[in-house]
Amino acid sequence: MPKFVYDFTEGNKDLKDLLGGKGANLAEMTNLGLPVPPGFTITTDACRVYLEQGQEPPELRDEVSEYLEALEAKMGRKLGQADGPLLVSVRSGAKFSMPGMMDTVLNIGLNDESVLGLAAQADGADSDGKSDRFAWDSYRRLIQMFGKTVLGVDGEHFDEALEEAKRAKGTHNDLDLNAEDLRALVESFKAIVEKEAGRSFPQDPREQMDLAIRAVFESWNGDRAKLYRRQERIPNDLGTAVNVCSMVFGNLGMDSGTGVAFTRDPASGQTGVYGDYLQNAQGEDVVAGIRNTVPLDQLEQIDASSYAELTGIMTTLEQHYRDLCDIEFTIERGKLWMLQTRVGKRTAGAAFRIAVQLVDEGLISQDEAVDRVTGAQLAQLMFPRFDENAKTEQIAKGMNASPGAASGKAVFDSYTAVKWSRSGEKVILIRRETNPDDLNGMIAAQGILTSRGGKTSHAAVVARGMGKTCVCGAESLDVDTKRRRMTAPNGEVVEEGDVISVDGTSGAVYLGEVPVVASPVVEYFEGRLGADSPKADDLVKAVHRIMTWSDERRRLYVRANADTPEDAARARRFGAQGIGLCRTEHMFLGERRALIERLILAEDDDEREAALNELLPMQRDDFVAIFTAMGGLPVTVRLLDPPLHEFLPDITELSVRVAVAEAKGEENENDLRLLQAVHKMHEANPMLGLRGVRLGLVIPGLFMMQVRAIAEAAAQVAKAGGVARVEIMVPLVGAVQELEIIRDEAQQVLDEVKERTGADVRSLIGTMIELPRAALTAGQIAEAAQFFSFGTNDLTQTTWGFSRDDVEGAFFSAYLDRGIFGVSPFETLDREGVGKLVRIAAEEGRKARPELKLGVCGEHGGDPDSVHFFHQVGLDYVSCSPFRVPVARLEAARAAI
Ligand code: PEP
Ligand code: MG
Repeated sequence: MPKFVYDFTEGNKDLKDLLGGKGANLAEMTNLGLPVPPGFTITTDACRVYLEQGQEPPELRDEVSEYLEALEAKMGRKLGQADGPLLVSVRSGAKFSMPGMMDTVLNIGLNDESVLGLAAQADGADSDGKSDRFAWDSYRRLIQMFGKTVLGVDGEHFDEALEEAKRAKGTHNDLDLNAEDLRALVESFKAIVEKEAGRSFPQDPREQMDLAIRAVFESWNGDRAKLYRRQERIPNDLGTAVNVCSMVFGNLGMDSGTGVAFTRDPASGQTGVYGDYLQNAQGEDVVAGIRNTVPLDQLEQIDASSYAELTGIMTTLEQHYRDLCDIEFTIERGKLWMLQTRVGKRTAGAAFRIAVQLVDEGLISQDEAVDRVTGAQLAQLMFPRFDENAKTEQIAKGMNASPGAASGKAVFDSYTAVKWSRSGEKVILIRRETNPDDLNGMIAAQGILTSRGGKTSHAAVVARGMGKTCVCGAESLDVDTKRRRMTAPNGEVVEEGDVISVDGTSGAVYLGEVPVVASPVVEYFEGRLGADSPKADDLVKAVHRIMTWSDERRRLYVRANADTPEDAARARRFGAQGIGLCRTEHMFLGERRALIERLILAEDDDEREAALNELLPMQRDDFVAIFTAMGGLPVTVRLLDPPLHEFLPDITELSVRVAVAEAKGEENENDLRLLQAVHKMHEANPMLGLRGVRLGLVIPGLFMMQVRAIAEAAAQVAKAGGVARVEIMVPLVGAVQELEIIRDEAQQVLDEVKERTGADVRSLIGTMIELPRAALTAGQIAEAAQFFSFGTNDLTQTTWGFSRDDVEGAFFSAYLDRGIFGVSPFETLDREGVGKLVRIAAEEGRKARPELKLGVCGEHGGDPDSVHFFHQVGLDYVSCSPFRVPVARLEAARAAI
């Protein structure tokens, strides 16, 4: 029989799947001997049973009873007992942190009787030395939280009643309500529950606990949680654990409080004491950012002994976890309690800095450092930043909660953020503070700005997790969400729709759009900023070291997709070890289009040949420049791929032009011929039509003109003392026979050029695998191919039957919403379908020709998750756009670790 409940003394940090992150780490801290309030964790297994069957596993109740009794024995008090009750919190905690997305209920165990017991027990909590106020306030909080999260009562009812109580008292401040007022409020709250939920607030403490546990299970499938999981790509079937923990109170007076701490700065990675502390406060007050906190180091003045104990524990935790930890703690009357720890989220820059710091401190290996950062984080560091030299009008400064440079139109609610961003506007979401309901708006916005809350507020934590620019706690701004405007201290008013810019790296808020400049990390990759130059900051140094370690570690080669000498040169600077795809169609644009027109319109061999002869030297020059730029690294040149009509004028435009000319009596012979040709070449499904290898087979001379240009260019480079390592690639092959014909012709041209020039002209001849039939007959195709390059764009298109040019707008959002896939298969390789074809083709191809070179040149070559897959199936290289080359280098190393 599965065990559904674990005491904190029974678990450990490696049991996150079962106990969730929070539960596993509470257990770990307990076993390290740190001061954790006793409690137990109900497993994710129990949650999954509940979600599947709609009810708790039958054994759960007895198991919970057993652990509750043990907890009561340890605490010497019974849950909710009338004189001095044990109170517990019931908190969610999934494997992956989902800040604020699921439910928590505090103060469970209070009822009409035990509230009096709590008052007696908590003596001195109130400013007048008594504790009635504290007890009644705790009770009203329980009914409110329980009513909202467990019984589904709209929170506004409670808020209104609270407001009404304050109005009656003539105050705006909760603290002015005395014990009598709060006792009356408890009665009003109970009446609200009765009316809205159709049942009374349960007086039985165990019933409270059981219902709260169930509510936490159910919150796994709440809208907010589902949206967050989709955004963060957290699987839907994990479920959450539930932690039942004895309550400690940070609101028992000024010698109590609650706080959040980081062992290093999660924004910059600097070592030191970071965090926020709030005196006389409970639970989520800090994270919710509702009241302004003091910086953690001020705790030293407030309570020196707790501060010393806390900093000692922070060192212990960091050494133990060998990573930045974040911590939630409470001080109850001078006694420190640890409520949570976990390996903390951090910004991309902090991740790189911390990884190398930990290597230098001897805590982790180089491999671990490489694995502690991600390609997505590196990509983020390559985004542009605000130009320091631009003229700007700064209107406020807040905390640099999550770095980046974002400009957009000011919006003051999430609904508008989503609406405007859907119509293509860039927006900055401005709120006093955010709460989990703002998640949609935060996803839609370029950046987030709040006027309240510290670096650990909801906005900051969630934005950092998403890699979104965020400035929080810009207190000098007066944000008026009702009137959709904010006022800066200089009197400047920003209305909805006005453009502002926020700098998540410095915390500055500017009026208008601020121009951006390249990031120093890009300057480094470009070679304009050396890692040992005095101008290089510690981030550039950290990136340099991690990239060096990555290059030593990876097995996959990384090439770039590049069609111009400029791109080729940049690709090399970014670390590309060759070109994996040179799309020659990009060489047929501009003025050369006219030559293609002539080729298409040719009425006989002579005309066609004349057009090809004019194209030949141009193509040759293109290749000479690219081969030279790559200096002997391999260059895969793909023969022409797209349907030829892409080079002809648009059919509608041309028809109109011809009709207008006709009406004016000014007919143009060339236009008429063009129009005929366009009609003739028109295809209903051009992506499945006359393109790729089919062009080479149908249009005489076209492919061989390209092969000749390649061969002559290689000869020219060789004669000039260089080396050209060429790989000629035939696109869209579906049958080996197609390839054989082109290969034989090409080989003949290569031999001919070699003989004529006397130069060492050599090229591999291979094919793209981008049709399912090619993948399935890869064994045959490999007999005729010296290499395969997977064209996963077309392979995804033809495997799924999705038009790669149309789907994104048409129905992908519905597919994503309905969970058919978590991410577009054009972005991240669909391992089960398309990936299976890649695997089959790689295996069959290598069986037929063991030395077969294998690569990928579809967009997936630069996608982190897909790179790991390509490593696993044994490809030799990935090829991606120059800008993504560093990301691929890093991820290729991470895949090998
Ligand atoms: C592919 O299909 O994956 C590919 C690289 O070719 P293109 O994108 O040019 O069709
Ligand atoms: Mg393709």
